[in-house]
Amino acid sequence: MSKNRIDFSNVTQLRKKMFSRLSWVKISKLQRDLKCTNCKVEYTSLLDEHISACSTPTSTIKAICNSCADKMEEFGIVDLNVQIEENKRLKQALISKIVTAYPKYKNERGSNQYRTVYLADLKMEELQAILKMEDDIIQKAKDLENAIKNEYVETETEPYLLTDYDIYESEWLKHETEIKDYFSDNYEDWIEGGIGEYVDEATVIVKIGAKFYEVDIVAEMGATNKDLGVRRFYVEDITSVTWKEIPKPLPKPRTQYTFTANLTEWEYNQIVNKFDGLNLTDFSSNEAIV
Ligand SMILES: [Zn+2]
Repeated sequence: MSKNRIDFSNVTQLRKKMFSRLSWVKISKLQRDLKCTNCKVEYTSLLDEHISACSTPTSTIKAICNSCADKMEEFGIVDLNVQIEENKRLKQALISKIVTAYPKYKNERGSNQYRTVYLADLKMEELQAILKMEDDIIQKAKDLENAIKNEYVETETEPYLLTDYDIYESEWLKHETEIKDYFSDNYEDWIEGGIGEYVDEATVIVKIGAKFYEVDIVAEMGATNKDLGVRRFYVEDITSVTWKEIPKPLPKPRTQYTFTANLTEWEYNQIVNKFDGLNLTDFSSNEAIV
């Protein structure tokens, strides 16, 4: 048994059967390259079709005979070919997992879709990121579904909530974690642009089941250039939606008032029209009995 000239514990990579033995012998210019770096057996004396290679941190690739390569493998160094095959297998398994769970990723080459991602072209880390992203979406939806099941309590909306507070409710809003996304898309009732003026901030009292929230919406407005002296403002972006839970609003205190006045019919109508325009929720007028 010849002694090892390579310290196996220094070997960082091993690739078995990397070179054709005859080609190697043909292109080798130095006498020492014609022998195994480790055991010094002459390559011309062997019958193997290939020879192997290894590398250490201090050297470039060294050629070695196959039996030395076997010894290194027994020593515990993984053959790069095995590792490559294993990586291919792991990648294929991961791709199968993704397309089984999320068939939208199943796309064939040549289907000529614009900006199609072929999973096979991606790196392992990119595939893992896709799987995690999709799993997170599913998990988030499940969490939301559970939260709604546990926390949402169908509750009647008393009329005073609408008249006194203009409470907002939506069938698409079943949990507070949906507030941000919801109002980032559905803001038109409160935030608006216009000619020469705009509303870029609003507070909405929102009822979700039995819970109440104060929601603040803030927008960034864009503006057109001045045209005939006025600018047209438009909503560029909803920059923030924040909310906090508040106690259920109580009916606002009301006091009964009686007004007395001596009026002409025209004056009377003027006043009633004004009152009507104030949107009072509990207003009625009776013509006085003279
Ligand atoms: Zn050898």
